Amino acid sequence: MRWTVKELIKTTSDYLRKKEIDEPRLTTEILLAHTLNMKRVSLYLNFDKPVKEEELSIFRNLIKRRLADEPVQYITGKTGFMGFEIEIKEGVFIPRQETEILVSEVKNWLNENSSKDFVLYDIGTGTGAICLSIAKFFKDAQIYASDVSEVALECAKGNSIAYNMEGRINFLSGDLFEPFKELKKADVIVSNPPYIPTEELKTLPLIVKKEPAEAIDGGKDGLYFVERIIREAKDYLKPGGLLAIEIGISESEPVKKLFEMGSKYKDLNIVPDLRGIKRVVTAERSK
Ligand code: SAM
Ligand code: GLN
Repeated sequence: MRWTVKELIKTTSDYLRKKEIDEPRLTTEILLAHTLNMKRVSLYLNFDKPVKEEELSIFRNLIKRRLADEPVQYITGKTGFMGFEIEIKEGVFIPRQETEILVSEVKNWLNENSSKDFVLYDIGTGTGAICLSIAKFFKDAQIYASDVSEVALECAKGNSIAYNMEGRINFLSGDLFEPFKELKKADVIVSNPPYIPTEELKTLPLIVKKEPAEAIDGGKDGLYFVERIIREAKDYLKPGGLLAIEIGISESEPVKKLFEMGSKYKDLNIVPDLRGIKRVVTAERSK
């Protein structure tokens, strides 16, 4: 039997729903659009188009991979962040929607407080999602992004080339502030570090376990990297500079205390995500 795009979407999303796959319709549409090499909206313009036998077999294979808990973003090799498409490789953390809040906070602060040629560090850059979406809006910024993962750095560099930002972002390899030792101090330090408590990693859905553990494992209390970043960033920030960090569920109280310790920061600001979880913490380095 020959399937049309419309029939295939309906039957496959019903099937994924039965198999308790999250967002069955969206998943179906993304994978079908990928198979047919078209944008997702174009599916709607091609509803009555018959799907060829070879396309059907490619599509079935992609659906099988999703049913085996492979994230859609690894299957298609791309994801959306701050309204643009970024390439993603297996072995690299998949940017999350809540991280857009972190980026928006930084952008707002920069618009209000900074000169055009500010210096920004992005610690644990992954695909480069955070620094790329800032570089896109601030053409004169001096941006440095680091990671311990070579595959992440390769992916981030690839994304910077795809967006003609090669040369505008410097990618550095190493543990937290290690690669920044010889650099100018920063106006902004931004990070979405690993922050899931180690014990909780076991309880995560299988699909999250396909991502590298080193990207999300925040040690015993989840705060291993957050604590180090708060403590070490003060030596790398200009007076009045901004530190912006994404944190996990129930971490805002201990994180607040970490910021208050030693009185090196002021203007602490905690921002919830769309689910009301206190997700982003920002503060300025005291003068
Ligand atoms: N910034 C990206 C984003 O928001 O999509 C990735 C965030 S992911 C939660 C954390 C990143 O930190 C991973 O890419 C991981 O490889 C990196 N990382 C882990 N340990 C690190 C360390 N000691 N120093 C620097 N980066 C580290
Ligand atoms: N939000 C991610 C998750 O729930 C974790 C991100 C992180 O550790 N920075 O899997």
